[in-house]
This record gives sequence, C-alpha cells and structure tokens, in this order.
Amino acid sequence: MKAEIVAIGTELTSGAKLDTNSQWLSLELAELGIPVHYHTTMADSLDAMTEVLQIAAGRSDLVLVTGGLGPTLDDLTRQAMAAMAGVELALDEVSLEHIRGLFARRQRPMPERNDIQAMFPVGSRPISNPRGSAPGIWMVQDRENGEPCQLVAMPGVPSEMKRMFTCEVRPQLRPAGRVIRRARMNCYGVGESTAEEMLGELTARDHDPEIGITVHEATITLRINAEGDSEQECLEKIVRARQQIHDRLGSLVFGEEEESLQDVVIAGLIERGQTLSTAEIGTGGLLAAWLSDVSGSERCFRGGRVLTGADGLAEFDVNVTEAGNSEAMATAMAVACRTSYETDFALAVAECPDYEPDDPEAVAPTTWVACAGPDGVTTRSLTLLGDVSFTRSRSAKTAFDLIRHLINETTRSD
Ligand code: AMP
Ligand code: MG
Repeated sequence: MKAEIVAIGTELTSGAKLDTNSQWLSLELAELGIPVHYHTTMADSLDAMTEVLQIAAGRSDLVLVTGGLGPTLDDLTRQAMAAMAGVELALDEVSLEHIRGLFARRQRPMPERNDIQAMFPVGSRPISNPRGSAPGIWMVQDRENGEPCQLVAMPGVPSEMKRMFTCEVRPQLRPAGRVIRRARMNCYGVGESTAEEMLGELTARDHDPEIGITVHEATITLRINAEGDSEQECLEKIVRARQQIHDRLGSLVFGEEEESLQDVVIAGLIERGQTLSTAEIGTGGLLAAWLSDVSGSERCFRGGRVLTGADGLAEFDVNVTEAGNSEAMATAMAVACRTSYETDFALAVAECPDYEPDDPEAVAPTTWVACAGPDGVTTRSLTLLGDVSFTRSRSAKTAFDLIRHLINETTRSD
C-alpha cells in the first residue's frame, strides 16, 4: 500500500504556520507499516487542490488530506474532492443535526455558512468529529489499474485531526489479522554510530522485530516494532529484543518509553530516600528546571543555584581563582552546594567557555560536570559541539547521567 499526504491551507504555504499534521500522520502510517511517498503542502485554491487530488488519487492507494473543511469561503476541500470525482455535493442530515447540536450546546446561534460542513460529495461518507463542527470525508475513487484509492479528508486543527485519525481512520487501515506493537528504550553515554556498532545485527533492516535507532540531543532512542499474528506474539518478540539490547548496551540503557534521564534520577533518589541540589553556570537553570518538571521531585530535589558566569562563585563560597579550570571549578561548586543545601548529592556544571560554532578555526571547548556524594566527588568532561541550546541540554544530560550511575552504585544513606 502506498500513501501520500496533502496538507491544505494558505497559512502553511505562506510560512505563517508549520505543517505538523503531515509529520504526525507519516509517523502514524509508518507504525502501521504503510509507507508515505509524497507530502504536498498547498494553498487554498480550488483549481490547484482539484489537480493535486487527481494526481494523488491516480498514484496512491491512500490519500490523507488535512485542512480546508471549515465553514469559511477559503475552505474548499469538499468542493475539490467533488470536482475531482466529477460529482455534486449533497446534504447529509445526520451531520447537519450534529453541527446544530454543537452550536446549541455552546448556546450560540449557528451561522448559515456552517451548513456547508454538512455537504458531502455524492458517494462519500462523513467521518464523525465530536471535537469540532467539521466532519471528515471518506471517499473511494476507482483507479485505472483497478485498485481503489481511499481519500480521507480530516480537519486541519491538529487536536481534531489526531482524534479523528486515531479513533475513526486508523482502525480501518490496520492490515487484517496483523498486530503491531511498539516499544522504546532510551540510552545515553555513547554516540549513535557506536551504539549501532554495539547492537550489531539487531538493527539490520531484516531483523525481526525491527529495531530502529534515532538520536535527539545525544539521547539515543531504540524503537522496537514487533509485528505478528497476535498481541502475545508481538509482546514475546519485544521482551526478547529488550533482553538482547540490555545484554549488548548494559548500563547505557536508562529507561523505557517516555522516561527521561531526570525521571530516572528522581525515581532513584526517592527510592533510596536521598536528596539532591544543583549548581550551574551558563545553562540558564536547565538542571533545576528539568528536575522540577518531574512529578514528585519536591521529595528529593532541595533546590539549586543558577549562575550566569564565574563572577557569582564568590557568593557561593568557591575560590574564584579556580575559575578557568573547569574540572576544579565544577568540583568546588558541587562540594559547596552539597554543604550549603545539606543534601546527599550535589550536581554542578562549570562555566562553558565561549565558543563560536560557526567559526571554522574554533576548537570545540571542553567543560566539566561534577557530582559530590557520600563517597566523594566524581567528574565527567564533555566537548561542546553545536549551538547554545544543544550544549546546555548536553551539559544537563551529562550531569544527570553521572548521578544516575552513582546512585545505582551507592547504598541507602538512611
Ligand atoms: P482548517 O481546517 O483548514 O480550517 O484549519 C484550521 C487550523 O488548523 C488552521 O488555522 C491551522 O492553525 C491549523 N492547521 C491546518 N492545517 C495544519 C497542518 N497541516 N499542520 C498544523 N496545523 C494546521
Ligand atoms: Mg484552512
């Protein structure tokens, strides 16, 4: 099955809005094993839309369209679908009642223009949309090769589109009898290619289950896609793959599904009844912010200092002369922080040296993170590649990864 996606809206082609629907739908279709061959983003123009839909219906088995189903004059998807199929629009009473009911519940008069949302190309069927006034449109178009093309038009509003796809469209696309289950494993500590090397044949394209590897700001995600005749078969494949990944990557694996490094750090500290504080320079408070975002963090995270430069160190009771040596600075900060907050652990990120990533002559600088704990201080260096938001997140993640290993190694303090 070949699919393509058409995103409609002048706000998209003008650059005012980013087409996020196509990305989301492509990921969903990939999960179903349906490859997407084309994305088309186009303005609200009836002629252009009709032409694009004609081309799409001619070359694809499935065409997902988003946008242009609203009541306003520039919303022309239904008209374009009718023109493409050479049919008229006809009123669907059930949809009209739904739209009337929606306005009644909101205690607002229904503008006449909204009637158009109950009009459908003859031969198509409405797709219900409890979240909004625009039902979707499902249309089957015969093709020259005898295979039908399924055209599915959904609202542009991402939340309405996602609900409609998940509840109304996806269940009808799933290949009969086949089950697909997914799992994610998250790793930190080596580069993507090293991880791939360690995983060996597990990431080969023909491996069953399929294991894909992606990286985002140095966090490596392994996506296991298991396909089988039953849920049980898929889950068994996932369990086996997880074990093989653990065997090969060991403690580089820190979590599953949506788990982040800070989630794991907070969970580990709570489990052991231990506490943490932070001291950071040049990260804009990222460590403290990310830790605070984790639910339950107030049980173990006692607070932190956010400094914009080494000048603030005096106030922190750290010998300023140590500025310039990042490892000594990080160590001193972590020790002072641990004492001042009276916590089991303190994490510190030393000042990042100035660096111009666009300058071809510039050498990527090194900075240090330190963790002071019951057994002393441990440090780790990191080379700062990329722009400031990347170096900040790498610094925070390196610090969390450092303490993650330490709390796994230390015993309870109470
Ligand atoms: P429409 O269904 O065309 O009236 O779109 C309603 C709103 O949904 C637009 O104003 C956009 O803000 C948003 N929207 C439409 N298409 C997309 C898209 N492809 N990606 C993200 N947002 C979209
Ligand atoms: Mg629109």
